[in-house]
Amino acid sequence: MCRHLAYLGPPVPLRTLLSDPPFGLLRQSWAPRHQRHGTVNADGFGIGWYADGDPVPARYRRDRPIWTDASFPDLARVVRSRAVLAAVRSGTEGMPYGEAAAAPFAAGEYLFSHNGVLPGWPGSAAGLAGTLAPGELLGLESATDSALLWALVRSRLGAGLALPQALTEVVRAAEGLGARLNLLATDGHTIAATTWGDTLYWRAGPGGVVVASEPYDDEPGWRQAADRTILTATPDGVAIAPIDGAPPPPADTSETGGTGELDDARVPAPRIAPNRSEQP
Ligand code: GLN
Repeated sequence: MCRHLAYLGPPVPLRTLLSDPPFGLLRQSWAPRHQRHGTVNADGFGIGWYADGDPVPARYRRDRPIWTDASFPDLARVVRSRAVLAAVRSGTEGMPYGEAAAAPFAAGEYLFSHNGVLPGWPGSAAGLAGTLAPGELLGLESATDSALLWALVRSRLGAGLALPQALTEVVRAAEGLGARLNLLATDGHTIAATTWGDTLYWRAGPGGVVVASEPYDDEPGWRQAADRTILTATPDGVAIAPIDGAPPPPADTSETGGTGELDDARVPAPRIAPNRSEQP
């Protein structure tokens, strides 16, 4: 399983999120601390970030381990952003290698990452793929489960769903496949993330909000989202809710097994972007 991270807050150099922290994505690429499936994340990486005044993010992706990329340290030092989504990849066996398979996937103002697997790929995904228009299917950036999931999310965004609803719908559509579906996405203003089979943590404060597969340091404030939930974060607050109607998780998929995040008074009141699906 890959590791991913998203950030919203005051502009910061990328290195303060990715390589300065003792257990940041750079280190998670070879020594993750909470990864349940796979060992290293050396099959490429990607960083997406937003520049002021431009709603469409930039991306830097490579097909090699992040620790071997000679350009990453310079980029991480000088690029500053208020909104970032990054991932290190552990490619699933049988799926293509290469830059095009590395998250974040992008379209317009959106960035997307998937931490997980659709077992039985590609045959098991035929039903899901069949729900896409032929053009959407042919436009897949890579023949991976993650790229298919991104196409399914895009299709729902195109139909007017807000980011959290689009992610939730895709998880529900794929739930019968026994998949692991930790999805993470942003439009530069809101982060949405699902937990479905792997870990997810978040930390919020005046310094911004970070949502990540695992804590990047041992400082206080990290909280774990329970399995089978949808997390929505803005710089103003974090909201976590069960994915409606989801069957209970298998016993081994949640480290905490609880939903303590839901009733924590220290969490600022959520101010979530309006649900575009409810607009006329
Ligand atoms: N299955 C996806 C891929 O191969 C994601 C892998 C992962 O989460 N490790 O890219």
